[in-house]
Amino acid sequence: MSRAVVALGANLGDRGSTLRAAAEAISALPGVRPVASSREVESVAVTLDGPDTSKPRYRNAVVVVDTELEPQELLDALHGIEDDHGRTREVRWGDRTLDLDLVAYDDRSIDTATLTVPHPRAGERAFVLAPWLDADPDAVLPGAGPVTDLLAVVGDDTERVDEPRLFDEPARASRPATAPDGRTGAAS
Ligand code: AMP
Repeated sequence: MSRAVVALGANLGDRGSTLRAAAEAISALPGVRPVASSREVESVAVTLDGPDTSKPRYRNAVVVVDTELEPQELLDALHGIEDDHGRTREVRWGDRTLDLDLVAYDDRSIDTATLTVPHPRAGERAFVLAPWLDADPDAVLPGAGPVTDLLAVVGDDTERVDEPRLFDEPARASRPATAPDGRTGAAS
């Protein structure tokens, strides 16, 4: 079993419903078990030219799962869920109904044509770091350090959305007290 961190984002359609449906779909994948999830945050759209306030704002969240899927298998499954939500890929960094990124997979370092893990921009993105910290107060970005430190450097410009976590409490309660890497599981 490996532990994976997935970042979810949406800036078109009913963003909250999409994030919830996607989190449910991720949890229901064969070989995947939900561990923890964040509440949602909202932030300004980032394009290749930088932040763009004229674009619809993003909702973001993070889910932590245990999985028997290999990293590429998991990414392929995530792409399937994106496709189920009408995602098209004409514009790189364009508006999207659903974006799923594999942020981390254990402490593995992967660099293939289709997959880079840890996600190369995760450490610079408050909209990834803030919900990740919300899901796991002890989170560490492999090769970069504790997420709480990274977020302090980046500055948290996200706004917390007043909604429950993406997973129901039972899934959250099933989280082991100690993660495989020895980190203490927190259940705030
Ligand atoms: P995007 O359109 O921004 O979601 O980028 C998707 C592309 O990034 C896909 O072709 C993936 O193969 C590639 N990619 C590389 N590393 C990752 C990762 N860690 N998570 C998600 N997509 C990735």
